[in-house]
Amino acid sequence: MSTNTTCPTRVYSSGMWGGHVCGLTAKHEHEGVMYCKRHHPPTYKAKRQAQSDKWAEQTRREVEAGKQAAAKAAEQKRRAECFPDLLEALQLILPMAKGYAHQHNVGSNQAYCDQAESVIAKATQ
Ligand SMILES: [Zn+2]
Repeated sequence: MSTNTTCPTRVYSSGMWGGHVCGLTAKHEHEGVMYCKRHHPPTYKAKRQAQSDKWAEQTRREVEAGKQAAAKAAEQKRRAECFPDLLEALQLILPMAKGYAHQHNVGSNQAYCDQAESVIAKATQ
């Protein structure tokens, strides 16, 4: 049975050589010794674990955000590298499409050609 009424935990802080005894009122028992709430070993351990879990989660999120940013940049680069070929293909195919749309003036055929012309103009300005 514990008899101490003040927390016996030795506390170290910067600038204080050798530390000092906590000395706060001890109301929390652990393995026969009484501690203050802060230094009660299970409570202290749970708090440290919670902080550690929080940092681990924060790190995991930062790593994930970095991966997503890298993947997005890689996708933008891949698309940009396709751009000249896509533009050239559209420029080559547009006259044929216009001929087809002229002969088959139905649905949105003409509108698709107009849209293609507009996109080419925007891309080559
Ligand atoms: Zn204490």
